[in-house]
Parts: sequence; structure tokens; C-alpha cells
Amino acid sequence: MKVTSSDFIISAVGPDQYPDDGLPEIALAGRSNVGKSSLINRMISRKNLARTSSTPGKTQHMNYYLINEMMYFVDFPGYGYAKVSKTQRAVWGKMVERYLSDRDTLKLVLLIVDLRHEPSANDKMMFDWLKHYDLPMCVVATKADKIPKTRQAKHIKIMKQGLGLLPGDNFIPFSSEEGLGKEVLWELIGGYLQR
Ligand code: GDP
Repeated sequence: MKVTSSDFIISAVGPDQYPDDGLPEIALAGRSNVGKSSLINRMISRKNLARTSSTPGKTQHMNYYLINEMMYFVDFPGYGYAKVSKTQRAVWGKMVERYLSDRDTLKLVLLIVDLRHEPSANDKMMFDWLKHYDLPMCVVATKADKIPKTRQAKHIKIMKQGLGLLPGDNFIPFSSEEGLGKEVLWELIGGYLQR
């Protein structure tokens, strides 16, 4: 998809602030600092629309970005940030759970993981959660540029095994730095927008 316009719309604290125009939504989940903002910026060829956060985990908001006036990227608050209190974590859980179970306009969830590392317990939980809700999902393993090409296949295998991906599950290696995976991911998103 050729992105001709992208705008930050709202940092929503709850459902009454989510847009009500019925446009399809592609959500991004992943731990704080995994590279969600960078991925959005790369996908829309903007340097800085989605803020790359120096204080990870600080926001407990759902950030809505309108793309080409026809779909949204919805950036979930990152999980697994150590300095977040138990109460905040519970609020996060409720907000995300409600969104995932109620949001009719949700077309696809991108679970963003770091290809350098084995999936964390939280990554695994999120993966299982999405499976449980039977939501269309794609695991996007970012920061691929930080791994030598000769080792990438091994990291991909470890990631898939660690999460428990089944044959047929969507998986895309990605690099916000170099643009790897961008076209494949747009193609996948395009397919889900038409469902
Ligand atoms: P967020 O908290 O998930 O939104 O993470 P950010 O997008 O703010 O990224 C966290 C840090 O990782 C930043 O310093 C980014 O520059 C860096 N980063 C994100 N994606 C990539 C990538 O694909 N390659 C490299 N080398 N660095 C990345």
C-alpha cells in the first residue's frame, strides 16, 4: 500500500474515546521498547509521527493513527515494563482485554517481538491470549538488522518454537532500521482489510 497520508488522532484512555467512524483497525501489541513506534514510522515512511519513547511504559493509552483516511494503526500500551505498578498493570489488562474482545472493527493484531531474544513470558502470554480470542494475528519479529544474516534463520526458529507458532501462522521478520519486511507486512494487512 502506498501511504499518502498519516495523522495522529488520539491517545485514548478508554472506549468512549475510540473513534466511532467504523474504519478498520490494525492493532500493535508488544513489550515496552520492543520497537512498536519505530515500526509504525517505518510503515508510513515518517520519521517521527509515532513517538519513539525514551520513557518506556509511561503511557497507558491507546494511540490511534489514521492512515490514508481509510484505516487505523492502534498502538497498545507496551507491557512488561518493570516500573509499572500492579494497579496500572491491572488497568492495562482490563483495557486491552476489553478492546480485544469487543472491538468489531479490529481486523488484525500485530504481535511485535524482538528477534534478538527468546520470547519473554509476557510475549508468550500475549500470544496465547490472542489465540484464545481467536483473533487474526501476525507475529512481527523486529530489530532483525541487529542479527548477522547468517544467524537470522536460527533466531526465527527459536522465536517460532518459543511462542508455539503453528504451520500457517503469520510470521514476518522486520527491521525498522532497514525496511526489511515492510512490503510483506503491507501486503498482509491489505488482505486482512478486505475480510
Ligand atoms: P516502543 O516503546 O515499542 O515504541 O519502541 P521504540 O520504537 O521507541 O524503539 C525502542 C528503541 O529501539 C529505539 O531506540 C529504537 O531506535 C530502537 N529500534 C526499534 N526498532 C528497531 C529496529 O528495527 N532496528 C534497530 N537497530 N533499532 C530499532
